[in-house]
Amino acid sequence: MDSLFEYRNCPSCGQNSFEVLFESNMKPDDFNVLFDYSMEEHDSQESVEGYLVPGKEWGRHVKCKNCQLIYMNPMEKVSKTNEYYSKAKNTHAPTIRKSYLRTAESQVSLIQKYANGTNLLDIGCAQGFFLFGASKAGYTTKGIEIAQDAAAYAIREFGLDIEAKPFEELQFAENYFDVVTLWQVLEHVPYPLMMLKAVHRILKPGGLLVVSTPNIETIPAKILRKRWWDIKRLHINQFTTRTLTDILQNTGFKNISSTSYRGFVSLSILLTMMLKYLGVYEQLKALFNPDYVLGRILNKIMLVYSSKLNHCVVLGFK
Ligand SMILES: [Zn+2]
Repeated sequence: MDSLFEYRNCPSCGQNSFEVLFESNMKPDDFNVLFDYSMEEHDSQESVEGYLVPGKEWGRHVKCKNCQLIYMNPMEKVSKTNEYYSKAKNTHAPTIRKSYLRTAESQVSLIQKYANGTNLLDIGCAQGFFLFGASKAGYTTKGIEIAQDAAAYAIREFGLDIEAKPFEELQFAENYFDVVTLWQVLEHVPYPLMMLKAVHRILKPGGLLVVSTPNIETIPAKILRKRWWDIKRLHINQFTTRTLTDILQNTGFKNISSTSYRGFVSLSILLTMMLKYLGVYEQLKALFNPDYVLGRILNKIMLVYSSKLNHCVVLGFK
């Protein structure tokens, strides 16, 4: 059993003193399955079947007594989760494309307000929607994406420059980038302080870092606790605006502040998410899933929301 897990000190302050918030709900056998429901393969070319699944499995969550960061401890072995990410399927990309491209426009506007140069790196760039928006706005972009399928999509659809490898395996020159972005990535990273230190090194002096993660201090998270949709097996760090600010501070970033952007979601995706969360998706999926007629129509209706509803967004400078 122990060979499946890795214990961590607090991934932000490095101390090893914590209280247990809640225990894991996974049985020993669950950990032997590499691919869980949320990313399983399926036939459809355009589908959200395996996408946006609320967390039904989670590991033990603890809270650091020193800095209050909430993190999973133990977590699953890095080699195993990396294999999982690398093989994750990308069949939902056509469905989410329009809303993610619109979200990218407001993320790019945010960057434009603070960045001093145009050499930009996006770590965990997924299908490249944000990078495509940034390149249209005149940025010289580079992306890193461990999921082979999503990286191939970004290259094929948008002609982007993507490295389909883990960040740790790549070498970048010191003081090279003007901007580094981490959109919904740090909650997945086993040793986020180490990653942020490497990011700090490759940023130019005065360079901008933007990090966004789910926020465990939002009202839904407080009410739903371990039933909150962002408590899930692959989310091994749970930040708040304060703990995200702290980890940037611990890394050496300066002039740190919190911000937000406008996100877009189609009505069909929103309804699909709600049905999945309520556990009635299978019975009702023909109504809202964009793979079916009504869902296809609803997928054209865009709703706007503030990232504050579910995320913390923090920026800092080298
Ligand atoms: Zn800590």
